[in-house]
Amino acid sequence: MENNFDGGRRQFIRNAALGTLSVSVGLTAMGSLLQSCGATNKMAGSFPATGFGQQPLPYRYDALEEVIDVKTMEIHYSKHAAAYSKALNEAVSAEAPQIKSTEALLANISKYTIKMRNNAGGHYNHELFWKSMRPKKNDNQPTGKLLAALEKTFGSFAEFKKQLGEAGTQRFGSGWAWLYMDAGKVLKIGSTPNQDNPLMNVSDIKGFPLLGLDVWEHAYYLKYQNKRADYINNWWNVVNWDYIQQRYESVL
Ligand code: MN
Repeated sequence: MENNFDGGRRQFIRNAALGTLSVSVGLTAMGSLLQSCGATNKMAGSFPATGFGQQPLPYRYDALEEVIDVKTMEIHYSKHAAAYSKALNEAVSAEAPQIKSTEALLANISKYTIKMRNNAGGHYNHELFWKSMRPKKNDNQPTGKLLAALEKTFGSFAEFKKQLGEAGTQRFGSGWAWLYMDAGKVLKIGSTPNQDNPLMNVSDIKGFPLLGLDVWEHAYYLKYQNKRADYINNWWNVVNWDYIQQRYESVL
């Protein structure tokens, strides 16, 4: 099965080799994580576990240009998200050196400090966010089982987008809007404050995140200023539905 993310990584490596992109990359031994984390969070499904280092951005900073400008992407990935990863590593060293995956932390996040909560969430959410996007595509929408499930649950794909967009615009302050699968395997839309997410045992909404929309001002302010709704409307054009479909099928 074609894996878009792997394709993107090849492109990234090519770009890096050409010297067109310079990012700080913390590669993690994903193979060992796959084995060590399966049982720690039952909602994490069979999807690969998330380490504590940043994975390479699967496209160039300017790849989403018509929707998210190059400067926003660069600052968001290399400053904001990098800071979450760095602080997460510090918190893990101090509080949970035996834990190997971000999912395992999130499932028991109430046991740890607010530093762990903010940065484990921040790291997980951004690793998901980068992979959930791709260069702009016309008529961008899911296919197959995921499209059928969205239509069945929300009435239509347009209605699903409307509801998730509202979850994003109505989130007061900073946070995320989510499409997630709950423990009963029902697709749900919701939002969380700050860097919380549905994998956290303290979250009001609980389940496996399929798609997360970052509505922190740092995600859109340079291009959209106060117009969060415009950012969200444009963002639909860069959602990587192949990747979201993979996440969905991993928890079916
Ligand atoms: Mn962000």
